[in-house]
Amino acid sequence: MAVISGKEYIRRIDRLNSNIWIEGRQISGPISKHAAFSGAVKSQALLYDLQKCSEHESLLIHKDCHGRSFGTSFIIPKTRKDLEKKREMVQLWARHTGGLMGRSPDYMNTVLAAFRSSIHLLEGEENCFPENIVKLYDRAIEKDLSFTHTFINPQCNRGSLAFMDEDPPNARTVDRTEDGIIVSGAKLLATQGGMTDEIIVYSPPGLMDKDQAFAFSLPADTKGLTFACRKPFSGTGERFDSPLSSRFEEMDSLVIFDRVLVPWERIFYYDNNKIADHFFKQSHFASFALHQVVSRQIVKTEFILGVAQLIVDTINISEYEHVQLKITEIICGLECVRALLGRSESEAEKDERGVLVPAAGPLYVAVSMFQKSCARFTEIIQILGASGMICLPDKAQFDSPIGEDLNRYLRGFNINGRDRVELFSLASDLCMSHFGSRQTLYERFFFGDPVRLSQSIYRSYDSSIHKELVKKFL
Ligand SMILES: Cc1cc2nc3c(=O)[nH]c(=O)nc-3n(C[C@H](O)[C@H](O)[C@H](O)COP(=O)(O)OP(=O)(O)OC[C@H]3O[C@@H](n4cnc5c(N)ncnc54)[C@H](O)[C@@H]3O)c2cc1C
Repeated sequence: MAVISGKEYIRRIDRLNSNIWIEGRQISGPISKHAAFSGAVKSQALLYDLQKCSEHESLLIHKDCHGRSFGTSFIIPKTRKDLEKKREMVQLWARHTGGLMGRSPDYMNTVLAAFRSSIHLLEGEENCFPENIVKLYDRAIEKDLSFTHTFINPQCNRGSLAFMDEDPPNARTVDRTEDGIIVSGAKLLATQGGMTDEIIVYSPPGLMDKDQAFAFSLPADTKGLTFACRKPFSGTGERFDSPLSSRFEEMDSLVIFDRVLVPWERIFYYDNNKIADHFFKQSHFASFALHQVVSRQIVKTEFILGVAQLIVDTINISEYEHVQLKITEIICGLECVRALLGRSESEAEKDERGVLVPAAGPLYVAVSMFQKSCARFTEIIQILGASGMICLPDKAQFDSPIGEDLNRYLRGFNINGRDRVELFSLASDLCMSHFGSRQTLYERFFFGDPVRLSQSIYRSYDSSIHKELVKKFL
């Protein structure tokens, strides 16, 4: 089974019976039928279905040098063509979600490919099992497994002396047994927690406590594992009223470990602070993951630009200079990020094992820019849409006896009221709903705190030649 269909994905996650709690209740039936999950599960299933569509087969399925066929997002690029294929694949999927599903399966498949291509960092090191990453990768490409991941610890104390806390809530190894390690505590967040076959758990860099220095993967229904969901943001569930949240709401959950047994064959490393830090920082994780992220964010920006321009056309405001400037801001953002992605590909370099690694520098700049510009783009849509963003009767109103009046009085420039409200409902869902606010927060934080990400760009950027230029001039 090289790639699965949407039906197979749903059948698998429905069978899992993971321990998921939402709105005070444990989910008992199939997760694909639960109102908080059904939209995103369906959208994800549609992505898997594309793999089975002959039109997209050559792009979405990859054959490696050993003759194995699997989903392109698992690719470990060796050539420029591989890298381009990966980008095109990510963007094809993103076009089906407007780039609004940050955790469509290609994200974690890319992360796993990054881990697989970085196992040399674990070889010969204490308490490290690189062979378990190889086994997981092979199983994942064979079965087209889906993953969520969690690495950030609960936000209990972020002070610089927090490592001295005696009983932090962080997930940690509490026992080492013949069968594996026993983990208790919690991890802050897993987007799509409960919606995937497996969960990959690893440590953030810079840990002091070796009990917290581990990485492993587990089936989502492992005994002792609980996904505690936040409040759902799926809106009314009605396509007309909640066009985006009804389809792309990816749940986030706190992950609780209650003496979870992680079998030895599932562990990548444990009790090793140095490796936990090195694997996060020196593996291909950042380069690979950011290449996927930025490819998706380009499509998302195209989507945002489309929404903004349609608002302009719909209420006929394109003649105003400030309106043109605002749209141009989005265009500039889009073109800059496109150029940075292109640069990361043209400056990609092979490592000693022949893996072609996209240049991380331009990708860090791109994601750092998007952490801020995404919020600005949604602000622009609010400014352009103005009262249209709020005067949004629902479908039931349009279907009622006053529907014709609404259709007439809420009309736009060359567009009837119903169609105009449908567009503005989408804009409002993108920028103002719970779902929309989460989108902005997601882009701001999911790849790390923007402040520390900017600082790391500052620290790693080589300004010596620029200083030399000025010195020579002086
Ligand atoms: C929608 C969403 C989905 C996410 N999905 C996932 C997921 O699937 N898996 C996962 O593992 N993680 C996920 N994350 C978590 C993400 O990785 C973190 O939000 C990010 O790393 C920042 O950590 P934090 O949220 O704990 O913020 P904190 O570190 O608690 O920061 C809070 C504030 O304090 C400041 N601050 C804290 N410490 C410092 C410091 N040392 N120096 C300077 N300023 C500091 C920050 O700048 C920030 O303003 C997700 C986050 C969001 C918002």
